[in-house]
Amino acid sequence: MGVDLHLHSTVSDGTLTPTEIIEKAAALELSTVSITDHDSFAGINEAKAAAERHGVCLIPGVELSTNFSDQDVHVLGYFADYLDPALNEKLRGLRDSREIRARQIVERLSGIGVDIDWDMVMTLSRGEAVGRPHIAQALINEGYARDMSDVFKRYLGRDKPGYLQKRVLDIREIFHLVHRAGGLTSLAHPGHWQPSEAVLTELKTMGLDAIEAWHIDHSEADTARFLGLAQRLGLLLTGGSDCHGERKKHGHVLGSLDIPDAIVEPLRIRADEIRSAPMPN
Ligand code: AMP
Ligand code: FE
Ligand code: FE
Ligand code: ZN
Repeated sequence: MGVDLHLHSTVSDGTLTPTEIIEKAAALELSTVSITDHDSFAGINEAKAAAERHGVCLIPGVELSTNFSDQDVHVLGYFADYLDPALNEKLRGLRDSREIRARQIVERLSGIGVDIDWDMVMTLSRGEAVGRPHIAQALINEGYARDMSDVFKRYLGRDKPGYLQKRVLDIREIFHLVHRAGGLTSLAHPGHWQPSEAVLTELKTMGLDAIEAWHIDHSEADTARFLGLAQRLGLLLTGGSDCHGERKKHGHVLGSLDIPDAIVEPLRIRADEIRSAPMPN
């Protein structure tokens, strides 16, 4: 029992394949999971097949980055048609921009005498949604840093020499694209930036459907705060471990958060409503 609706696979910056994620979820007897890779649905078909074999319910998901209220904000999309052409075209554009940015980061690092091989970055990313964690792994492999947090502190974090923003979509466009594809939206790890009630109210009027109350980086107080805010504002609930594979501090966090099965049905109902309502262009 229990669910985990925020998971990254090798399609983006996770270290488990979609099949391995489902196998772990089945071993933990989770009822429902969602694979939410950054900017890609490429893992969903494989995960779906594995989920059917193992009797796990799979919600197709995706995680998109944006800027809002001067913050680096992530939005999760659930139940969208993962073959939707408009959404996939946008995701393709974001992945292409990621590759250009990753090349520029590698060049910048080279400019300060930190040389890593572009082919190694591509191999680590498997050519899908390449991100800073892949560059970070290459830096670790080449002995430039001890671990991920060391890399982000020294090279890839905001204001560090290898930092480059990535191209993102406007938050309204994300809400619109996900809704148009029959999905609903949730605010990922709000504990990272602690939006006020007023900001959440504004996001709700813009098209936010849910909020991620449970997340590996949330304290109990964070979760309690977001559960309360969700109830007051009429936002649905989501939750997930944001597992990227083994974490140094936490080990495998997949399924570790005790998130109630009962959150899934209201999400399913909302997605059905979105799909049956006529969508303006
Ligand atoms: P990107 O989307 O390329 O900007 O990379 C962001 C990703 O890097 C996040 O999704 C995390 O997986 C990872 N990340 C960000 N900050 C850190 C950090 N301080 N330590 C480890 N991983 C991080
Ligand atoms: Fe990530
Ligand atoms: Fe995120
Ligand atoms: Zn995530």
